[in-house]
Amino acid sequence: MNLILLGPPGSGKGTQGALLAKRLALPKIATGDLIRAAMREATPLGRKAKGYYDQGLLVPDEIVLGLIDEVLRSDAAKDGVIMDGFPRTRAQAEVVDRVLQGDGHRVDAVLLVDVPEDELVSRMMGRAALEGRSDDTPDAFRRRLAVYREQTAPLIAFYRERDLVTAIPGVGTIEEIAERVRQAVGR
Ligand code: ADP
Repeated sequence: MNLILLGPPGSGKGTQGALLAKRLALPKIATGDLIRAAMREATPLGRKAKGYYDQGLLVPDEIVLGLIDEVLRSDAAKDGVIMDGFPRTRAQAEVVDRVLQGDGHRVDAVLLVDVPEDELVSRMMGRAALEGRSDDTPDAFRRRLAVYREQTAPLIAFYRERDLVTAIPGVGTIEEIAERVRQAVGR
């Protein structure tokens, strides 16, 4: 089972993805986590990514496509995976399709975690106080929302054409939303 979590920054897709991953016993792979780790370790990828990341811009596809290819081909992903925070562009979506198809697999479902923008902004301000992520400043966050709207939201139509999208209202308690995810996935 290969699942994609799609949704704006701050929608809670990471939280829901972690719960779902545990229930389905599948790995959750988050490109954001991989990029943050690479920045912490100051690897070549991390150093290239940092300027974009801090501003709230997407790390360019020329850097991220290889990362996606690599994680999807890894042994950990062979029985399926929950994709958190990718694909985020059309080119990334095409790499996901290509790698999965090469293995006789495919994207099985896309869960769209839906949250209104004003709610996202107030969540971000709460989280920034707790976690201090370098891209949780008001400016970077606003840019991440705009980037989502322009570059990632078009993927909703791309996957709707294949009838893969289930929208999950992402407002409520973590448990309420987890229950909606459970119903959408069927287990
Ligand atoms: P959020 O969904 O809250 O924005 P993420 O951890 O998914 O959090 O992403 C944080 C940042 O990491 C993005 O703004 C971007 O700079 C970078 N990033 C993460 N995943 C990708 C990706 N698939 N393609 C390009 N950039 C990415």
